[in-house]
Amino acid sequence: MAENSFCIFNKKVIYNNLSKEYGINMMSCEICKSDVKILTVGKSPISGYTCKTIDESLSQPSFEMNLLACPNCSMVKYQWFDEAEAILDRLYSGHFATYYFTKKMSEYMNSFIDSLSSKYNLNKDSSILELGCNSGRMLNMFREKINCTTLGVEPSKTFNSTWKDMNIEVINDYFGESVAETLKDKNFDLIYFRHVFEHIPDPVSFIKSVASVASNDSIVVIEVPYLASVINNKRIENISYSHLNYFTIQSIDAIATKYNFGIIDFQLVETDGGSIVVHLQKNKTTNPDIIDNITISNVSELVSHISNAKDLMLSNLGKYDKQEVIGYGAGAKGQHLLHILGLEEYVSYVIDDTPELKGSYIPGTSVEIKSLDQVDRNVVKAVINLIPTHAEAIKEKLAGQFEFIDPINI
Ligand SMILES: [Zn+2]
Repeated sequence: MAENSFCIFNKKVIYNNLSKEYGINMMSCEICKSDVKILTVGKSPISGYTCKTIDESLSQPSFEMNLLACPNCSMVKYQWFDEAEAILDRLYSGHFATYYFTKKMSEYMNSFIDSLSSKYNLNKDSSILELGCNSGRMLNMFREKINCTTLGVEPSKTFNSTWKDMNIEVINDYFGESVAETLKDKNFDLIYFRHVFEHIPDPVSFIKSVASVASNDSIVVIEVPYLASVINNKRIENISYSHLNYFTIQSIDAIATKYNFGIIDFQLVETDGGSIVVHLQKNKTTNPDIIDNITISNVSELVSHISNAKDLMLSNLGKYDKQEVIGYGAGAKGQHLLHILGLEEYVSYVIDDTPELKGSYIPGTSVEIKSLDQVDRNVVKAVINLIPTHAEAIKEKLAGQFEFIDPINI
């Protein structure tokens, strides 16, 4: 996962627009207006926040999670629920970091900066804009490497002192039409956003705002989980409701061409279980040979994999008493796995390394979040890995003390 675990933009305005739009025309693709196919993931509470008490947790609503898949442009997104707005608001404003900042991630960020700087001749005269800049770490790295001018946009209120310490300029707001309006006279050589686009309720409006800031020379770089990789790697933990959108090259191109962008390059990368980095520029035409071909039956196979994984888990867990099994990882993906695989009745609690989560509950369940030092090693025999992207690190940490059960990396 990128440094920004949760990022959402202009959500109040867009939610209202979407509610209206979906109220009238709920089941058509927002990009190409074709009729969409509905794929049912199952009824589940929303993942990615926590509750202070068990009573509060058990009172949290569940939703029918429906993926809307477009047969024409291959856009896949979750059906919107107005009732989810308050919960998502809570999820994004709570903003607990569920990522590990690993050496691998740091190397990835370095190579991202180096390759863009060399490909597009970025230097001290360049101006770079990051949307969803989170702590500002990457902008700071850009500045340290090439001494360029940087600007970030980030709605979270938790990073002000970090930005100040690094002397990074950040507009502390949601990116959308009004922020775009204030930036339109600036000339950015590079505009990028990493692991942001999947969270945006209205990705078409978002690109419209990006297009209003980008000049003909600006390079726009988007890093986002790649639907083909999610499908190929069977990353069912990746399809929680906090990821509202699932992109292919075809669907990104379909949005981009609405605003006169073409895809000039792309790379497949390993972040977040398989992502894609897409480079756009205005007045360019996408090479039709790069358009991928993800079908509804491919998406449907991914959804069916949930029940396979569930069967496998239950056959692994049958030999244990509930008190002998715990989960590891209470972030959005871990919670989502717990819900869709029906693990609540098999685990006694879930541990997490984020200290702020200790003592709280996973919404919609009676599952408490504890810290690793609270684990009674005389009782617990098996740990279910609920952070599949960090399986090796967690396995190493547990050092063979428990049976390690991984629902994804099997
Ligand atoms: Zn479509």
